[in-house]
Amino acid sequence: MSHVAFRERGEDLRLEADYVVVGSGAGGAAAAVTLARSGAEVAIIEAGAWRDPEDYPSSTYGAMRDLFDDWGTQLARGRALWPIVQARTVGGTTVINSAICVRTPGDIFAQWQRERGIEGLAERVWAHQDTLERELRVEEVPEPARGNSNRLAMLGASRAGYDSHWIRRYVAGCEGTGQCLQGCKKTRKQSTNLNYVPEVLARGGHVVSSAPVKRVAIEGRRAIGVRGRFEHPRTKAWGADFFVRARRAVVVAASVTHSPALLERSGVRSPALGKYFRAHPGTGVFGIYDEPVDTNTGATQGWASTAFRADPGLKLETLSIPFEMVASRLSGGGARLIERLREYRHLCMWCHAVRAESVGTVRNGLFDKPVVRYGLDREDMLRFRQGMILLAKTHFAAGAKKILPGIHGMPYELGPDQVSLLEDAPLDPRAYIAILSHLFGGCVMGTDPRDAVTDARGRVHGYDGLVVADASVIPSNLGVNPQHTIMALAMAFAEDLASE
Ligand SMILES: Cc1cc2nc3c(=O)[nH]c(=O)nc-3n(C[C@H](O)[C@H](O)[C@H](O)COP(=O)(O)OP(=O)(O)OC[C@H]3O[C@@H](n4cnc5c(N)ncnc54)[C@H](O)[C@@H]3O)c2cc1C
Ligand code: SF4
Repeated sequence: MSHVAFRERGEDLRLEADYVVVGSGAGGAAAAVTLARSGAEVAIIEAGAWRDPEDYPSSTYGAMRDLFDDWGTQLARGRALWPIVQARTVGGTTVINSAICVRTPGDIFAQWQRERGIEGLAERVWAHQDTLERELRVEEVPEPARGNSNRLAMLGASRAGYDSHWIRRYVAGCEGTGQCLQGCKKTRKQSTNLNYVPEVLARGGHVVSSAPVKRVAIEGRRAIGVRGRFEHPRTKAWGADFFVRARRAVVVAASVTHSPALLERSGVRSPALGKYFRAHPGTGVFGIYDEPVDTNTGATQGWASTAFRADPGLKLETLSIPFEMVASRLSGGGARLIERLREYRHLCMWCHAVRAESVGTVRNGLFDKPVVRYGLDREDMLRFRQGMILLAKTHFAAGAKKILPGIHGMPYELGPDQVSLLEDAPLDPRAYIAILSHLFGGCVMGTDPRDAVTDARGRVHGYDGLVVADASVIPSNLGVNPQHTIMALAMAFAEDLASE
């Protein structure tokens, strides 16, 4: 077993394994551990650094510097420029996410069958989800860790008359520190750097960190390994070159933005490569309450509702964000901002994630940075606005005295009798501060090679020994949080690969 970290120039690395897995996030770690459990020697190659939980940052700035991909500066370019948030560290985005665990809804498999000819996945994915829930110790947010924001949301939803629930997460004994975005220093969150990645090492595998893959090496139509150059975890200076040979196959799991870009610069030919990028764009509405809420006490995300997944197509959740992110959302500066921050203990943010139908593209750009073009059409913007109205109504049902909608061109705050103003809120995406954190597509699966990059087992059409096993294969939005689906799909693909 070996962990190879950053190497200086001149100390080139050559390694060989049965399978080479690019990326150690949700998809990569799940695929790697499945392959390792089959008895194979696996090498995980990860662009980001290995960070132990005691070294996780506390601030948003630290998270952007140490954990986020490209400092969180990646934008979806459309009419608005909305940030795309992903991680770049051993464990991938599972290190910074909220670990919400939702089973793949049955209608998704029916849709994939109808639209893309994909059959026989449902039972296998659910079986892997059984395993994941056991191994990653999925629990409902425990009562002492719920916090006031989550409790208020539960109250608001029940008064507003719709179904909602405490969230189930891959967390063992959440202490409710509200720090999931900066990494869980308490090691309660079961990010993949704490379980599946170490298991791959324990089974005789390798992890090469701070090692962005430049290219998949392809001979004829067969993937034979990966090459790249180490990148210093702090200075970002280039280090030694590396080549890792794959005796059996290369598994690409570098995320929705990086997997298509990597395949493109590796010379993979597919008419569908980089197409069908999708997301669940989301934004938040603050409620201000008479009593202190202390939003950063309690699970980062503890409450959710899927009541609107089919109509109008969105999910509602609570979300506690770090203090400095709250400050950046309360517009104004100087004395005015200080005045507004006085309300900090009394506010909490709830957000929506829109099940958007709009599609975009991912391309490999300058310096190997993915370029994402994506915007929401009018139908999706109507859903987006509807989500804000639902959040506002839920806040007022829970007893908020006012809300802060955060919409450009609208009043800074609205009272309970002003919700109707939101019905006319702009449909221009530039008026909203939104982020994209649930991403899909770019290497979508399907039976028709003219319209899909991989088949229904993640194998790239027309190539041997090349599999994609991350969110980029997902050919639709899900309307629920994606990690559980990504991990189970990756396990199913890896199982097929190991049995070939
Ligand atoms: C703030 C936030 C909160 C979220 N909360 C939830 C949640 O609660 N529940 C949920 O289901 N989903 C959540 N998500 C989404 C979920 O985390 C992602 O959908 C999921 O992690 C994607 O898995 P992946 O394997 O496709 O990519 P990732 O997990 O992002 O892993 C990709 C890995 O590949 C590495 N990589 C990239 N390029 C290269 C390269 N060239 N060479 C080597 N390595 C490379 C990256 O550094 C990264 O480690 C959240 C996302 C964010 C940003
Ligand atoms: S809320 Fe705190 S203790 Fe709970 S999983 Fe997130 S970071 Fe860990």
